[in-house]
This record gives sequence, structure tokens and C-alpha cells, in this order.
Amino acid sequence: MEKFYSSSMLPIHEIQPRLAKAIKHAKRILLSAPTGSGKSTQIPQMLLDMGALGTQGRVVVLQPRRLATRMLAERVAQERGGNLGDEVGYQIRFESHIGADTRIQFETEGILLRRMLSEPTLPGVAAIVFDEFHERHVYGDVTLAQALELQRTSRPDLLVVVMSATLDTRLLEPYLAPCELIRSEGRMHPVEVAYLSRPLHGDPEPPWEAAAAAYENAVRNGRAEGDTLIFMPGAYEIQRTIEALRHTPAAKGALLLPLHGELPPQEQDAAVSPQTGRKIVVATNVAETSLTIEGIRLVIDSGLARVARFDPWRGINTLLVEHISKASADQRAGRAGRTAPGYALRLWTEAEQAGRAEQDVPEIKRVDPAEILLTLKALGIEDVEAFPWLEPPEPKAMERALGLLHDLGALDAAGRPSPLGLRMLCFPLHPRYSRMLLAAAERGAVRPIALIAAIAQGRPLFVRNAGKQTVEQRRDILGDTGGSDLFLLMRAWHYARNNRFDVGRCRRLGIHAAAARQVGPLWERFLRIAESQRLPVETAAPEDEDIAKCILAGFSDQVARRLDKGTLRCELVHGRRGELARDSIADEADLLVANEIHEIGRGDGELQVLLTQATAIQEAWLRDLYPDDFADQTSVQWDSAARRVTARRETTFRGLVLTAKPLESPPAEEAARLLAKAVLHGECTLKEWGHAVEQWMARVNLLAEAWPEWALPTYDEAARELLLQQICHGSASYKDIKTKPVLHTVKSLLSPAQQALVDQHAPERVELANERKVNIHYAQAAQPFISARIQELFGVDRLPTLAAGRIPLTLHILAPSHRPVQITRDLPGFWRDHYPRIKQELQRKYPKHEWR
Ligand code: ADP
Ligand code: MG
Repeated sequence: MEKFYSSSMLPIHEIQPRLAKAIKHAKRILLSAPTGSGKSTQIPQMLLDMGALGTQGRVVVLQPRRLATRMLAERVAQERGGNLGDEVGYQIRFESHIGADTRIQFETEGILLRRMLSEPTLPGVAAIVFDEFHERHVYGDVTLAQALELQRTSRPDLLVVVMSATLDTRLLEPYLAPCELIRSEGRMHPVEVAYLSRPLHGDPEPPWEAAAAAYENAVRNGRAEGDTLIFMPGAYEIQRTIEALRHTPAAKGALLLPLHGELPPQEQDAAVSPQTGRKIVVATNVAETSLTIEGIRLVIDSGLARVARFDPWRGINTLLVEHISKASADQRAGRAGRTAPGYALRLWTEAEQAGRAEQDVPEIKRVDPAEILLTLKALGIEDVEAFPWLEPPEPKAMERALGLLHDLGALDAAGRPSPLGLRMLCFPLHPRYSRMLLAAAERGAVRPIALIAAIAQGRPLFVRNAGKQTVEQRRDILGDTGGSDLFLLMRAWHYARNNRFDVGRCRRLGIHAAAARQVGPLWERFLRIAESQRLPVETAAPEDEDIAKCILAGFSDQVARRLDKGTLRCELVHGRRGELARDSIADEADLLVANEIHEIGRGDGELQVLLTQATAIQEAWLRDLYPDDFADQTSVQWDSAARRVTARRETTFRGLVLTAKPLESPPAEEAARLLAKAVLHGECTLKEWGHAVEQWMARVNLLAEAWPEWALPTYDEAARELLLQQICHGSASYKDIKTKPVLHTVKSLLSPAQQALVDQHAPERVELANERKVNIHYAQAAQPFISARIQELFGVDRLPTLAAGRIPLTLHILAPSHRPVQITRDLPGFWRDHYPRIKQELQRKYPKHEWR
């Protein structure tokens, strides 16, 4: 069997017996072995040769990167002595080398999931190998979940192998259970790691100079014995590093080889294959674990990587250069210890290292999940929250993404993908861009829209805070018509290109020449995707209006209306607010769409929401494109200044009020409700709602409590509000209700019979034993009382009661001056115990009064 494999034995061959045993009973295998062990090249072959694929089945090996996909396929084909597309093949977007007899099929991650759209049970696929799973790309995560689901349902025979270069399997083991775990420690030589003694300066200091200097240092210290691998975040930095090394004497005579996805295949192959003489490979993180380059003894690590991340300002995913995690840096260092002890130089300090993250955050937690959610929906998964995620997206991100898909028209009202949404899925792009390109195809605007997408994707084209003069010059030369900031950006880019990205000429207009230079390849990429979907690319130049409509199609969730002409304040759809950027070209527009929304924290702790990259639009376009998202509504509000209820008939687009007409008379119910609220909150007082009304209510409440059997209604908050609404009915302003009579309405809560009960048992006045009549004072949540001067009480030896004795009355006894003398419920006790003393005192003071 050995004759099939590469001539030298690889560490992975040690696990071959275990693998052979495992596939006899297990359908899920988790295999972890260090980089270079032979996982990617050998495991698929072993599966085939062990008969794990049956007589005709295929193994699909999923790869996170196109470059590695092609190289691994070529390598394996070569090891097996065949041609690509025969027994071994590969498929990446735009490129397929797969034949009818292909048994080992390398693919990039997204391709298999998309194939499931048309072939849900994956006929012919006997095994799926998830390679480099530790990278945790969204498509890898989701495809694995789907594969496990397939095993549970229609494909129990499907073999799933998950391979990872890290030995940390804590998350995966329970997720895959029941699964067979196979580990191989591999063979690694020690790698000595060194840090910078002081951090790189600048914002940030370009890493290429530092890398060249580090190389020079290593040579001087005898540390650059074998070949060297330098990690840089992207193609641009790789190019600059190679230029810097060209001017480094220590690198003289060394072969300088770039390695990244954008290079032609021959150049990629040259970097990986053995060379005579010393070589320095400058690579992206494709060389971190995906590809093994033999003979590396020195690693120089910039510590940076381009990482896909959702940019909330731009509302899209972008690639940002970020610091790698400790785990990732360890992987990179490990590349120096493959064949002999090695040396790794990190272009950051030990202190900086301590502050770095332990692990990379999985992509699903970083990016906008809109595209993957749409894919899941298209696969028939309606409840995406219940999907068996290895780790789900953040709930907020999920909600936002679903909202966006609705607004883009990719999902219908029931949350199912629309025909348009399914069409959008054919583009390997964020749904905003696929939507824009599809709109552009209808309007002959594919070229400019692809350019706008490319400009948005890259670094900002315009220098920040360029200065008034520069901005004016920019507008003078480029023009400032068209009503869109994006048109100005397009003109600026053409200007930069026509001037061959000349730094001086660009700077005069505040254009970043380097950023502009990077737009070209991105534009090409968008155009190529458009072509692959047969969109008309070569068309006559479209009207500005057509371009604006395409922009709207991709950002219709960010439509805004100016609140007034005097300020830049705007209201956005879905109830948000913001402010248009002062220098926007769209500042004349009443309606606009903003491609970027910046949330800027201000000194006072408030958040300023700034709308930039705006394009003027018209209501008619919205009506045309989104007829179902319009609604007519009557809005009624309390105008506290005028103390009246006003009403408007509003036309809204996704909650944003577009037009409003005042209504003569507001709807009665609503007006009464708002007026009543104003009264309740004390903004208006009803003249007639006075003591008598409060007394009545207190009487009823008192009696209701004392005599629950009668089940009298009570005046609580809700009843008051209801009565006020009744009083206010038919009125719209304070003026109308100010002097309205209220007592009759208040009393009407009770039936006439109930009212009679109240008059009988909790009367307004009561007769004392000496036939005098006195008022009873009622109050909410207090005992009722009567008050009388001593002279009025002569001949009274006991107090009357209410409610047939159920409610006692309290007596406030007053002096002739009406000053209170005593509060009591025990009148006989007063006469007996207190009166003689009080009488003495008062008689002296008020001799003219009668004293008995
Ligand atoms: P793993 O996936 O475990 O990192 P691979 O299967 O990719 O390991 O590689 C195993 C070994 O095969 C590498 O160490 C290297 O020696 C060799 N190899 C793999 N691909 C190539 C290639 N394209 N050219 C030369 N050697 C290769
Ligand atoms: Mg591998």
C-alpha cells in the first residue's frame, strides 16, 4: 500500500491502522494532527484505498482557500500518478477539474453547500472531509451542520471526517458525538521564539521595513540557515516586503518568492516547490496551516492578517488588517520547526503578545450572516435560529441580517426566499452587492455599479479632513453634480487612474493614490462575477438616474428623509434618526439613500449618527420598486403648546413618514383618549371637576369598601380615565372641555338605584341628636369626619354613624374660634373626661359664648 503514497513516510501514516479500524464502525471521525503531518494529502487517499468510499463513491475534501485547493489536488494527483480531472480533481469558483471518474475531489468550502441547493442528498458523495476546520469559516461551520443533519436523515451512510491542525477539540467533540477521535502528535522540532524589544512606531509602521531589518539581523546572528518564511497580511504588503528585501544586502542571492491567492499558478507553485539555493517566501496566512513549505528554518511574522469582519458603518463585510491571536502566531512559528530546529521572529513585543487574544474569533461571530442565512433559507431551513449551529451568530446580527434580506426583497413576507433572493444566491457576494448588480443588469449599469461596489469595499478613497481648499478644488475639477457622493467618488477614481495613480496629482484633490490603485482589481473581480452570471457588462453609459436606482436597490434599508431645510437632520426608515454629512453632494435632496452610517460617540455621551455617501432619490422610485412597503396611517398627537389634539394623514415607507396632510378634525376616540391623558397628567384642569366631584367619588369608594356585598363600582385610576374620555368625547382641545359639566357623567358610573344607596348610607350631610345638620368630609383612603363648634354640640351625647353602623364618623371638636380642640370618636368620653377642663379654659377666653 505504501507505494501509493509519497516516498517518505509521513507522521499521519502512524494513525492508518486506527483510521482503518474506525471507519468500520464510525461515521464521524475527528482527526487532529499538526500541520505537515500529511492530513490533507494522505487522508483522502487512505479513505479511497481502504475502501471507505465503496466502489464508486467520491470523497469531497473541503478547503478554506482556493490556492490550497488547487495545489493539494495537483499534489495528490501527482502522488497517484494521474492527471487532474481523472481520479483526483478540484473545483473552485469559475474553475472545475472534475471528471466522471473523479474519486477525490478538493473543493472550496462554499461550493458544496451551494450544490446542496440542487442535490440535497449529495448523491455519489460517500465521504466529506472538512480540512483545516480549526479556521472556522462560516461555510465550513454550516456545511458541517448540514452534513450531520444529512447523516441523521437521508444519508446515514455518509462518512464525515473533520480534520484540524490544533489539538483543541473541546468544542467539536460533543458537537460531533458519537464520534471517533484520532490524534497524532506529529513530529516537531523545537522553535525558538523572539520578540522585538520595542514596538513598531507609526500608525501603523509599515511591517515590510521591519521584516527586512529582522531578516538582516537574523543573517548577522547566524539564524538564517535554511529557507525563510515571512508572513504578511496581503498581496500589497507582500509586494512591499519583496521590494524591501531587494534592497537588503543580507538577502542578496536569495530567491524572493511571493505566495498569495492573487498570483498566477506558476508563481504559487514556485514558492512551494523545492528550489536550489536559499529562498525567502513571503506569504499570507495560506502558509500558516494550509500549505507546507519544506526546509523553512526561519519564520518572520508580521503578526497581521486580513480578516473578514462586518463593518457596521458600511453595512457590509470588509477585510480588515488585524492582529492575529496567540494560537495563530504559534502555528506560524511552528512552520520553522518542520525539518530541523528553527527560529521565529515576531514583529511585536512580549508586552504586546500578552495583550493578544488566545484564539481567533470564529467567522460566524464576526461577519454579517445575511448571505449564509439566505443560503439556509434556500435550503429549506425556515427557522434559522433553531438551526443546529456549532456556534450561532449573535442574535442581534441575525435579526439585523433578516431585516436586511426583507428590505432587499430576498425574503418574502413569510420569510421564505423570493425568486429574486434565489437569484442573488448565485453571486458569491454580500446580498447588498448581488442585489445591486441584478438591478444594474436591468438598467445597463453593471460597470458603474461594480465600480461603486469596488470603491466601497476598499479603503476610503478620499483623505479625511482634506481641508476646504482641497475639497473645493476637487469639486471644481471633478464637478459636483449628479446628487450623489458616489458619483464624485467614481469620477475621482477615474481621475486617479487617468493620472496613473500619481501620488502628487491625487494628493492635490485629496485622493489616496494607494487606495485608488487597489480598486482596479476589485472592480475586475466584480465584473468577472457579473459576467459569470451572464449580466450585460458592455453596455452604453447609463443615465445617472439608473445608477442611483441601483444604489437604492442595495441600500433601501438606509433611506432617509430630511426633516427640514434648515438643518441636516434626517429621519430614516425603521424609526432611526441621523444627520446628513455637511459636505454631502446630496444636501439639496429631500429624500436620499445613505450607503454609510457612522455612529460617532460625542463628548457629551450622546451618539451622533452621521449619514455619508448619500444619493438623492425620489419618492416615485420607491413607489415603483417597493409598492408593498408603503402604508397610509392617521397619526394623532397632543400639541401641548396649543393644548389641542391634532391629526395628520401620513404616507409612510417602512415606517418613515414621507408626506403628511393635517386633518380638519381628529378621530374622536383618539382625540378623547389624548385629551383625557392631558387632564390626568395635570396639563389641563377641568373647571367643574372640583370638590363636589371628589367628594362624590370618595363617598362611593368608602361605601363600596364597607359594603362589598353590594358590588358597587369604584373610582380607580382606570375608571377616572374612562370617565374623562367620556367627558372629552367629541372635543379636540382644552378650550372645548374647560368648562364642561362633569358631575353628571361621573355619577353615571352608578345606576340610579346605586346612587340612591350612596345618598342614603354615605350622605353629604348628617343630622345630630340636637337636630343640627352638619356636612360630612369625605376623602380618598381616609375616614370620614364631621366638625362642629362645642356650642353646636350641646345636647348631643353620641355620634351618628354611616352605612347602618358599619362606618364610624370621627368628630373634630372646635373652639368658638374654629380652632380644633379635640379629635374624637368617643363623644360621651369627651363630655365626661375632657370637657370640664376645656370649658374652664375657654369660658375665660370667650365669656360671651354660651357655656353649659
Ligand atoms: P497537513 O495537511 O497535515 O498539513 P499535507 O498533507 O498538506 O499535511 O502535507 C504533508 C507533506 O506533504 C508536507 O509536509 C510536504 O512535505 C508534502 N507536500 C504536500 N503538498 C506538497 C506540494 N504541493 N509540493 C511539495 N510537497 C508537498
Ligand atoms: Mg493540511
